Amino acid sequence: MTKLIDGRAIADKVYIDLRREVAELKAKGVTPGLAVILVGDNPASRAYVRSKDRMCRELGLHSMKLELPASTTQIDLLARVEELNRDSSIHGILVQSPPPAHIDEAAIVRALAPHKDVDGFHPENVARLVLEDPSGFVPCTPLGVQRLLLETGVEISGAHVVVLGRSMIVGKPLALLLMQKNKNGNATVTVVHSRSGNLAQTTRSADIVIAAIGRAEFLRADHIREGAVVVDVGINRVHDRLSERGYRLVGDVAFEEVSKKTSAITPVPGGVGPMTIAMLMANTVKAAKQSL
Ligand code: NDP
Repeated sequence: MTKLIDGRAIADKVYIDLRREVAELKAKGVTPGLAVILVGDNPASRAYVRSKDRMCRELGLHSMKLELPASTTQIDLLARVEELNRDSSIHGILVQSPPPAHIDEAAIVRALAPHKDVDGFHPENVARLVLEDPSGFVPCTPLGVQRLLLETGVEISGAHVVVLGRSMIVGKPLALLLMQKNKNGNATVTVVHSRSGNLAQTTRSADIVIAAIGRAEFLRADHIREGAVVVDVGINRVHDRLSERGYRLVGDVAFEEVSKKTSAITPVPGGVGPMTIAMLMANTVKAAKQSL
């Protein structure tokens, strides 16, 4: 029987520790503060920002939500970021992705103070991840995937991990994190992408397969070996006329058939998603601690 990895339950465990850390910080006169900037009115982005704000409040964090019109210019946005960089009540800043097309997202990320970049996208934090400097910020989804595996008791050290996808948000930082030379890493990591040959042969040799490609139900039973652990990062909308919303969410893994072969697997939703937000909260608390 495969074990279903419950991301919500593991995130709740993370929150128990975070509540204690927040109380300790408050006793020292510091309330961790997170500012989230949303430019435009993308409904999915709006929903993400709302849930980040709600979680901050639940944990007793100071939450600042800046909702700016889609017409906001690059210069205006940079000015807002500069303001938040200087604001001592704010320890973490993130600009919800994707911004409107006229915004140069990379330039905005570079303008963030690296010690407030709780998304871990600033070049300085990328470098710290490569250098294995624990004071840097690691992107939230990779951090969440690692935590899910550790909390489930999956042995990462010595395992062959195949990561599908090489984005700067998920695949690449995840590969770097899991190959780090420490007790939570030490994996042998292979990364595959859209130009990889023999993809199925590679994934079949993995102890742990992590799918982050954004292709609905791409990973099938014949992509994995019996007993593998599968983590599904993907979130894809597929048309469903029976659903009230007209769509349902599926991952990058064909859950029904793959789960028959795995020893452990994450569902979508309820797997990696809740961990991403938990790690954002954890990074914000870390930033507040570092400010002391
Ligand atoms: P990107 O589109 O930035 O990257 C996708 C990666 O997958 C690319 O490296 C691409 O290869 C690779 N890829 C695409 N098609 C194939 C294919 N057929 N075979 C092999 N590799 C392929 O996506 P993200 O990394 O931002 O996100 C990936 C998924 O994870 C999405 O579904 C997204 O919604 C989800 N996500 C979920 C989060 C969560 O909290 N659960 C957080 C972030 C993302 P190439 O580089 O060659 O183009």
